[in-house]
Amino acid sequence: MKKTILLFLAIFCLHNIVAQTTYILCGKLIDTKSGKISTEKTILVKENKIIDVKDGYIMPKGGTLIDLRDKVVMPGLIDMHVHIEQEFSARTRIEGYILNEADVAFNSVGFAKTTLLNGFTTVRDLGGTGVNISIRNAINAGKIPGPRVFTAGKSLATTGGHADPTNGSSRNLIGDPGPKEGVVNSIEDAKKAVRQRYKNGADCIKITATGGVLSVAKSGDNPQFTIEEVKVICDTAKDYGMHVAAHAHGDEGMQRAIIGGVKTIEHGTYMSDKTMELMIKHDAYLVPTITAGKEVEEKAKIKGFYPDIVVPKALAVGPQIQGTFAKAYKKGVGIAFGTDAGVFAHGNNGKEFSFMVEAGMPAIEALQSATITNAMLLKMEDEVGQVKKGFLADIIAVNDDPTKNISTMENVVFVMKDGVVFKQ
Ligand SMILES: [Zn+2]
Repeated sequence: MKKTILLFLAIFCLHNIVAQTTYILCGKLIDTKSGKISTEKTILVKENKIIDVKDGYIMPKGGTLIDLRDKVVMPGLIDMHVHIEQEFSARTRIEGYILNEADVAFNSVGFAKTTLLNGFTTVRDLGGTGVNISIRNAINAGKIPGPRVFTAGKSLATTGGHADPTNGSSRNLIGDPGPKEGVVNSIEDAKKAVRQRYKNGADCIKITATGGVLSVAKSGDNPQFTIEEVKVICDTAKDYGMHVAAHAHGDEGMQRAIIGGVKTIEHGTYMSDKTMELMIKHDAYLVPTITAGKEVEEKAKIKGFYPDIVVPKALAVGPQIQGTFAKAYKKGVGIAFGTDAGVFAHGNNGKEFSFMVEAGMPAIEALQSATITNAMLLKMEDEVGQVKKGFLADIIAVNDDPTKNISTMENVVFVMKDGVVFKQ
């Protein structure tokens, strides 16, 4: 009996030596829940969790010290709209035909790392080839550094729609993709496509409710699903515990998506007042992606960067997005921070904060959108989005107070995810 107790104590002590406490001294700490900024705090981290947040600076007797006394500390950021597999360039179209899945995977390793090192410790990936599911698994298994990923796998479209993978191909390559490949044209297809995503390991569903800018197709805003198709997609997704995100620029497609039951509207470019009211009524959130709007507008001016058919769409849609965000925010539509990184260079996600503030959203609310709101939408509100006892140790720091200088969010100087330091 005595021997057993001694052995137990030995294991207990050993465990405590191995799992040392890290003490993070914070000059300023942002409480995303209350929106208040406090000074001189110490965060205690053990393994992957925040075990306490204490007043004043506590110097460790044992353990590790991280000195952020001249920094502003906050929880890791969440981006609700990235494409972790891809980074758009003038070569993107041709790469669709020459890259193998392994090439896509190797590219993604760099994109994931860059995203994490810029302070985004969680992302929702809204569509790629399906390699995104493997990327998520590799990150979760600790094989590669990257943010916690919630992925839609391959986006769902209708034939010729924004996410039809064979859009713009020559006739002998165009084929006839179906629900397995993410193309649906009926109620039955819609159910099958969602169930296929679940089988593949997706965490959520993305539909392209209207035309889009970068697809090789004429319209950037026409409705591309019937309301019945959207409803079935949302109902089926619900059965599997998944929410639905809808890419939408045009107003009609947006309304169908909201009434059909999607949780987030991506871009929302031509959203009318009526649709904003519908968003509020149905508790749907706008994911602004202003950075992507600015990027496509700029790149469309470079001759040959986009296919000719894309240029007028980029010039029309790009400049609208920030103004729509401003109107929707003012009207009271819920805002879920999201950038569409991959349309622009990964790692520049933090630029979105400046664009949101420029459009009239107070800096603290932009930060709450990227933490509290997004954690809630991902059903992780008890684990991420706050620096709080019991939460996962996703902690970042910047040089300045973002409520006074929002562009400081583009220069994240410290990153911890799951208790592991990735940047210091
Ligand atoms: Zn996107």
